[in-house]
Amino acid sequence: MLEGVLSGKTRVLDLAYALNDRLVPWPGDERWFEAKINASFEKDGFFTRHFWMLEHYGTHLDAPVHFAPGGSAVDQIPTQRLFGMAVVLDVRAEGAADADYLAPVRLLDEWEARHGAIPEGAIVLLRTGWASRWPDAARYRNQDALGKMHFPGFSVAAVERCIERKVSGIGCDTLSVDFGASQDFAVHRLALGSGLYHLENLSDLSALPEHGAWLVVAPIKLEGGSGGPARVFALLP
Ligand SMILES: [Zn+2]
Repeated sequence: MLEGVLSGKTRVLDLAYALNDRLVPWPGDERWFEAKINASFEKDGFFTRHFWMLEHYGTHLDAPVHFAPGGSAVDQIPTQRLFGMAVVLDVRAEGAADADYLAPVRLLDEWEARHGAIPEGAIVLLRTGWASRWPDAARYRNQDALGKMHFPGFSVAAVERCIERKVSGIGCDTLSVDFGASQDFAVHRLALGSGLYHLENLSDLSALPEHGAWLVVAPIKLEGGSGGPARVFALLP
């Protein structure tokens, strides 16, 4: 597949958003991103910037230590777990009808009936269609009058199945793998507590087949990080 990248036989999708100060932060965050010129051609003859950002901003990875004391930090995730088959669960219709939709374990049963058992090391992605709302913060967060967000997420039972199948991670095209209205972050506790990682704010997943693509997950190697910005590539056969 990698050989085919150069010839164009293997298509590569970039599933990360470019980082800037206009993305959608978590509600309540007061600062999220800043980039400033450090050296300029005019003054220094070359160009550099420095930047500051939250670990959980834009397309990013949640490391186990984000919710599990003693869990792996972003720089400690074994490299082989950053490469895996993409298992895509499509809930665009359900999410459009019900913004509090929780993807049930039945979706994994149905996926396995069509494609066989979810392989060890897979990365299970929830395609909600929410990327079409990005980067409109109001529509993407979809908050009600009380400030509670509404977007679909994984159910606990679905994540339990993912853990049984020994997947490496789960991901979504929304702000969180827990549904927006979650108060207890049950999926965060369960998945990160079991050593999985999360990919959040993935970009448009519509070109991904539900079976057959491979993911290359490349998070920043930030020592001790609870997570961090990640470049995520999908290789399409
Ligand atoms: Zn996060």
